[in-house]
Amino acid sequence: MRGMVLEVAGAAAGAGVLSMAWAVWGRSSCVFGPSVYRGVRDRRSIALTFDDGPSESTPELLDLLAEYGAPATFFLCGENVRRLPGVARETARRGHEIGNHSYTHDWYCLRSAGFIREQLTKAQQAITEATGVAPVFFRAPYGVRWFGLRKVQQQLGLTGVMWTEIGWDWKLPADRIVRRMVRAARNGAILCLHDGRDTRPHPDIRPTLEAVRRLLPELTARGFRFETVSQILCLTT
Ligand SMILES: [Zn+2]
Repeated sequence: MRGMVLEVAGAAAGAGVLSMAWAVWGRSSCVFGPSVYRGVRDRRSIALTFDDGPSESTPELLDLLAEYGAPATFFLCGENVRRLPGVARETARRGHEIGNHSYTHDWYCLRSAGFIREQLTKAQQAITEATGVAPVFFRAPYGVRWFGLRKVQQQLGLTGVMWTEIGWDWKLPADRIVRRMVRAARNGAILCLHDGRDTRPHPDIRPTLEAVRRLLPELTARGFRFETVSQILCLTT
């Protein structure tokens, strides 16, 4: 309870100057738990991140990344992992970093701390069982953080990861996704794309795949290297 009171007090104090919306959605907000949205800027590196997987199309994305030797970070939904444990395992086996993206991809706004705890804990279990890796990073569904998150992040040892830029790849055609991502490309950028569409089976992620197919050579030509979230947060590699 005391933790809750402190969180409310902290959020209220923050909201005095900023707004509650920023606390919940702001990419740099740490009001509801520790969170990052970019890496160190001393290297020409970018972290590609993919949410909402694994999906039936993830293997195609893994092949694309392998062509460029590009490690990425995948924030998996527990329910998708239960459906496709082999794809989750293969993602980790190929050297990509695995993060937690909740169990069923719900909104956390106005939800209880118990609900949020269950979402993160169940996802952590599903991911660990399928891949052998216990994630250390968490990306909130829809980027929405809420009361109770800080405590469960602490219990599970998770740091929140937002993004420098998001691709809107569930909505936009490939050329516009590429434009957004290239415009945002800078040292330490964390770019967010999606290899699934929340927890839907057989999602159509063709615009994402096409965008990645163009982005990998484009960003490489601009001198960028690809790093996982863990790597891009480190001062030395
Ligand atoms: Zn998501």
